[in-house]
Amino acid sequence: PGVIIGLDIGGTKTRGVRFEDGVAVADESAGSANVQNVTPEQAALNLADLFARIGGGLVSQVYAGAGGIDTDDDAAALAALIEPHVPGAKITVVHDSRLLLAAGGASTGVAVIAGTGSAAWGRNTAGEEARAGGWGYLLGDEGSGYWLGREAVRHSLRRMNQGLPADQLTAALLAACGADHPNRLIALFHSPETGRRFWAQQARLVVDAAAAGHETSQNLLDQAGKDLADLAAQALRKLGIEGPVILGSGLGMNVVPLQAAFRKHLAAAGITDVRILDQDPVFGVLQLVKDPSGSV
Ligand code: BGC
Repeated sequence: PGVIIGLDIGGTKTRGVRFEDGVAVADESAGSANVQNVTPEQAALNLADLFARIGGGLVSQVYAGAGGIDTDDDAAALAALIEPHVPGAKITVVHDSRLLLAAGGASTGVAVIAGTGSAAWGRNTAGEEARAGGWGYLLGDEGSGYWLGREAVRHSLRRMNQGLPADQLTAALLAACGADHPNRLIALFHSPETGRRFWAQQARLVVDAAAAGHETSQNLLDQAGKDLADLAAQALRKLGIEGPVILGSGLGMNVVPLQAAFRKHLAAAGITDVRILDQDPVFGVLQLVKDPSGSV
């Protein structure tokens, strides 16, 4: 009913869709407003940028799924940044993994995010909920874009230590970073010039090298699929269910070898109802507004 704004706030970007009577009339992206990754000031600027483009004003409800939302206080802090753009609107802030299950058309099961970061979340028919992972890039984010990008750097540094020449992955990484030697990657990694988003974007180098036959890159995609499968299996176990499992977000929706590894490792644990999300998680908002169950 009326105007609903859905937000999907990931580690790299904020996607906002304005729905009028259930129809998407504006769909825009701005920088991340995930306060685990950017300062509250930067988050506020990025939200202002987004609302300037999708329109604020007379909105009945904003439903936001955000990474880095682990407590009610986290949710309240983000809601306070959204509020000035939509005076009087009902604002709901939940963990971003919740959008995925709804976007996959499922009310029960486990959704796995493989994007800049990673996390799993699910719910069973009794309404019990379980999360696994989603600890952020410093503590976890196994199988995520950031993890793959960082592993590409570590691979290059390991070869440097062994006195080996740059291989295909290292050469691609050095070119992407404008660096002439792997030893430059150490300072670059810790520099404020780069960040979580930058290294997550380098995951594509691993994907390309794997497609060209680079064995380490193939193994990294397999490991990512396994780590993501482990997150899903942990959440399923806590819920006492076997599926469905829905894999989504940038890497999850697009990287076929990672999807294959994810399926393979889940199948080994007897879990076979595995689906790949076919739309952006933000489109789960319409379903969640109809059936708003719970908070963070
Ligand atoms: C964040 C999680 C989030 C995940 C996927 C992680 O870095 O810590 O809260 O769910 O990324 O966006």
